[in-house]
Amino acid sequence: MTDAVKRNGAGRWTGRIGRPLVGLGLGLAALAAVVAAGATPGAVAPALPVQIQSAAGSVTTAATAASGLTPAQTEGPYFKASSPERTSLVEADMPGERLVITGRVLSPDGQPVAGALLDFWQADDSGAYDNGGYGLRGHQYTDANGQYTLTTVVPGLYPGRTRHIHVKIQAPNGPVLTTQLYFPGEARNSRDGIFDPALVLPIQEAGGSATATFDFVVNLA
Ligand code: FE
Repeated sequence: MTDAVKRNGAGRWTGRIGRPLVGLGLGLAALAAVVAAGATPGAVAPALPVQIQSAAGSVTTAATAASGLTPAQTEGPYFKASSPERTSLVEADMPGERLVITGRVLSPDGQPVAGALLDFWQADDSGAYDNGGYGLRGHQYTDANGQYTLTTVVPGLYPGRTRHIHVKIQAPNGPVLTTQLYFPGEARNSRDGIFDPALVLPIQEAGGSATATFDFVVNLA
């Protein structure tokens, strides 16, 4: 499905995450085949079983499944192609509690992945997505140590879901992992059909803002 979104050998993206499928060079025949197979682009990958430790033995976030990989989740209806490149999604006078998430993108054997793409999108403080523009949407790349930092606001709730942030992650030339991040202590977590405790941010509150560390483990090919 979204494996077509890859960088070529020269390190250039052959298709940015979320660009319309036709823009990825995926032919109409292939698209028709996808539809005929009963799958929609961005359909849910099977959830992976969960364990507490990552492949690297880290116990920081319980972020990985038994396979060592971060569990995949549905893309949902609000992803938008071609988000701006930025590490902070916060804009002037934007309401909401500030949230800084830091972490690494790791390979299944626990090695940091430099140059990995992360594309985040989320609802605003009132639970609304900016579907006309790119508010609270942005992509970035991990540094030489595989690290990323996202500065944003705590997303608001909207009907039918618990609190969450969407993200796509892609190692250079690797497949796209689509998943979501959750918040601890949310009343709706237990009633949300796709909530996964392996994807809960370990939120620390201090001085009216929140921080969390979360590592993603992704396949490289
Ligand atoms: Fe959502």
